Amino acid sequence: MDHRAQALLSWYDRHRRSLPWRDVGDPYATWVSETMLQQTRVETVLSYYKRFLRAFPTVQALAAADEAEVLKLWEGLGYYRRAKNLLTGARQVVQAYGGAIPSDIAQLRKIQGIGPYTAGAIASMAFGRPEAAVDGNVTRVTARLTGYRDNAASPSGRREIEARVRAILPVERPGDFNQALMDLGATICLPGTPDCDRCPLAACCDASAAGDAEELPVLPRKNPPRAEQWDVLLIRSGDRFLLRPRTETLLQGLYVFAMAEGFHPAETVAEAARAVTGLTCESPVYLGEARHVFTHRVWEMRVWALTTDADTAPEGWVFADAEEMARLALPSAMRVPRRLAEQLPSGKPEA
Ligand code: SF4
Repeated sequence: MDHRAQALLSWYDRHRRSLPWRDVGDPYATWVSETMLQQTRVETVLSYYKRFLRAFPTVQALAAADEAEVLKLWEGLGYYRRAKNLLTGARQVVQAYGGAIPSDIAQLRKIQGIGPYTAGAIASMAFGRPEAAVDGNVTRVTARLTGYRDNAASPSGRREIEARVRAILPVERPGDFNQALMDLGATICLPGTPDCDRCPLAACCDASAAGDAEELPVLPRKNPPRAEQWDVLLIRSGDRFLLRPRTETLLQGLYVFAMAEGFHPAETVAEAARAVTGLTCESPVYLGEARHVFTHRVWEMRVWALTTDADTAPEGWVFADAEEMARLALPSAMRVPRRLAEQLPSGKPEA
């Protein structure tokens, strides 16, 4: 075994984080947890993971679920495409493999939502196959450890990082090795300043010796997210609010209040509400601001309350009271508008 792998594994045996999806030997559990962990902190994932596995303990149970049910359990976790892919993938596994998740990388990659990282994670952690699983943490540790100083995000950079992980990866404990790299990246070899004094790899680390660990990995600067301005319209009929499931790619299937692009002066808000929903609305009252950052865009929102006499929701919309709203999946972007809606006194909002 490579001496770096040995040092890392003996550190892992002493310092591993105890996580509910570890050492369960269930590829479905690895798949769910690794999908949830993409772009999301471990602390946030813990409760979601437990609830999800309780509701859908097997790939068959998930495959039989409704998308609305799955989205509801994912509510607040963000990046909802992951949930939809997981559901589609589970159905694929049931249809193509009789519900048995394959161990082979090429077969795993054919399943919806399973990219190179998740395929490597499932193959190595659940099946003990010597496959690399390269995420952001692993890229950072590997670039520093082996002194990779070219662009690590380019296609050739990614290939090179993976080749370097494979060169160290032990056939004996590939799953533990991958998780050890991830843990090291999450706790010691941090973005910004790494804690090399506590690192089990310090003696053999290229960047630590060269003194440029803080500059690695080399990644191109990302474009800042684009700002969009929206008026969020809490249109109320009695105690019920108007919402619609989104059909746009972003947040598709999740319920949002009416939204009119741009910030409108108070005197044109009712007109904007009519343009968006077709309903005659009145008495707009400004309630406050909200902001939500997505990967590529930011929603800057102003929230208004309006009333309507309409009893029936237009096509593609629903009226929901507080109880009904609790059953719908609303994205985190609607957290503040929803709280403002819940705080409104019943009846017409006061001007
Ligand atoms: S010695 Fe420092 S830079 Fe190198 S792997 Fe460890 S924490 Fe990262």
